[in-house]
Amino acid sequence: MNKIIAANWKMNKSSKEAEDFLRRIEISDKNTVIIFPSFTALPAVSSIIGRHHSGAQNVFYEEKGAYTGEISPVMVKEFADYALVGHSERRALWETDEIIGKKVRAAQNAGLKVLLCVGEAGGQDRNRTLETQLRKGLMGANEKNIVIAYEPVWAIGTGLTAKAAEIAEAVSFIKALHKCSVIYGGSVTASNAKEMLSVCDGLLVGGASLDAEGFRKIIEL
Ligand code: PEP
Repeated sequence: MNKIIAANWKMNKSSKEAEDFLRRIEISDKNTVIIFPSFTALPAVSSIIGRHHSGAQNVFYEEKGAYTGEISPVMVKEFADYALVGHSERRALWETDEIIGKKVRAAQNAGLKVLLCVGEAGGQDRNRTLETQLRKGLMGANEKNIVIAYEPVWAIGTGLTAKAAEIAEAVSFIKALHKCSVIYGGSVTASNAKEMLSVCDGLLVGGASLDAEGFRKIIEL
């Protein structure tokens, strides 16, 4: 089917747990699988499945300097080919659309492919939110190496999913604006993944990507 199946492990799994997990799944050419572990587990993940299947959950927007605690895209590029940018859990902390735009450009300058997350919160107008997040997030970016994850905030980690028809609408809205692959994220599980996959280019899986058995079912679809 060749879809993109990305796993966002959030703040979970040590290197050892990551190794155990990866031993229990098999990454074939059937779909493009990308694992986003914590920074500390990234070297272990990358050494097992390769940098082309590995990504960082965040990057800073400067290459180097006096930014205590930050990790630059150039550092990430040692281990991974992808960076996740604009996840709603980071937007909720402090990241604005302008900061996200800087991160996207910095990641691309370092040679990383970007998985940019966008999506409306409950009560927000979907298309207006997507248009603003995409315009600011992709300002000055090269669309060629961008994948967009449509993740309605109300669906993340809640067990609520957007309906397939709503996902299809959001996907065509985004594709009318940008020539990028568009994947869906928000409470995807092995039981609903097939339906979601039928209307988009792949999935960003959070909670359900922590369990090797469940994730194996999704990547084998
Ligand atoms: C996510 O973290 O991007 C996500 C979609 O999480 P979950 O699958 O748990 O809703």
